[in-house]
Amino acid sequence: MKKVLIIVMSLSIFSLFPNESIKESITKHLNNLATDAQNGRAPGSKESREVAEYIKSQFSEIGLETSYQTFGFNNRLKNVIGVIPSNNGKYIVIGAHYDHLGSFLGTVYNGADDNASGVSAIIEISRQLIREKLQYGIVFVAFDAEESGLNGSRYFVNNTDYKIDLMLSLDMVGHLNHEARLIYEGAATIINGEKFLENSEVDNISVKTYPVANHSGVLTDTFYFSKKNIPAMNVYTGLETSNYHKPTDDIETLDIDGMVQVVKQVSRFITDIQGDIEPSGINIYGNHKQRFGIAFSTNGITINGMTPVGYSLYGGEHYFKYGLEYLYESEKKSSVNTPVGFLFSFKILGFEIGSGAGIYGSININKLINEQFEYQAGFYLENIFNLYNNISYLNSIFVSFDYGFGYKNFLQEGITEFNKIPRGGLKFGFYF
Ligand SMILES: [Zn+2]
Repeated sequence: MKKVLIIVMSLSIFSLFPNESIKESITKHLNNLATDAQNGRAPGSKESREVAEYIKSQFSEIGLETSYQTFGFNNRLKNVIGVIPSNNGKYIVIGAHYDHLGSFLGTVYNGADDNASGVSAIIEISRQLIREKLQYGIVFVAFDAEESGLNGSRYFVNNTDYKIDLMLSLDMVGHLNHEARLIYEGAATIINGEKFLENSEVDNISVKTYPVANHSGVLTDTFYFSKKNIPAMNVYTGLETSNYHKPTDDIETLDIDGMVQVVKQVSRFITDIQGDIEPSGINIYGNHKQRFGIAFSTNGITINGMTPVGYSLYGGEHYFKYGLEYLYESEKKSSVNTPVGFLFSFKILGFEIGSGAGIYGSININKLINEQFEYQAGFYLENIFNLYNNISYLNSIFVSFDYGFGYKNFLQEGITEFNKIPRGGLKFGFYF
């Protein structure tokens, strides 16, 4: 039997590091990352290179195996990597992007919360974890060029040999005082993740989990990990009080005592992992796979396919959708329809809600039997409500409502007739 994540009481001794010493270190990091001297850490800038050097020196001092991973035009961008080696070849990645927006017309965007806070936290988490007996090796990565399109994390995950079982991205952890709770989005990407996280609370901090990325709607460095189906979680304290992407995102606004709690909580979470992390198969940004479905309504049956064409914000997906349906209206009229269209969905608390539109063509089967053709073409709209991934052998159960209207007979008799067409109305179905 495979050992899976076991929920245990923490045995770790974080008291080795008094809060005051963690706080002192965090303050030092912030002063080396988010003052005007760092000029907003724009990717490729001189100041950005100095910041990368600072992060690397901190990782080295703590005792991690450090390296740079350079990429981009002229190799001007760099991720900073610090590793606690693994006994069994398995790794957890703990990342935080260190770049920010730079300066504009003399105004420096210091990005204290976004994301000097996350970088300072992962440095201190590494100091905690290097002394612990861990089930997993840890790869700490300070990513470059997140703000310009998640470039550092994309390069890392596409060019690494580490076998990664879990990725955490700390992005904006400096405002714990807002609600005294640390948010984990993507807790459902591993088996028992939600339960496990709720058991790893420390001191005055509670953990608020979301099964998938449905809260902020802002993409961060977990994204390209999720594309490789690696379980991933966004860890942050919230956007509400953060001066997100404003020149006022300064060190003075941060809750540094809260950051100490964040360091302790994440460290405890990692230290408590006793068995193998099992992926749940749920992706933080959506499952992004081909789906086939069958749906029933009072007057028909529909078989359809959904090909994913992209991720949407709020953990949903974009689909190209196609189908074949049989609808019965009366003894004189039953039809075969061929709807094709697009569907856009988002996720809330494990549910998927989507809207779609498309076109369809249909043939009257009864008339076809009498060697007559009656064609129809039209437009449909649909809304779906999807309870997904909750039953092991089904991908999802859904109810949908659709309706359409169109013109009929326009090909055969030379006349057009506007006709409201009952296309199934309320449907109930399954996706595999
Ligand atoms: Zn950020």
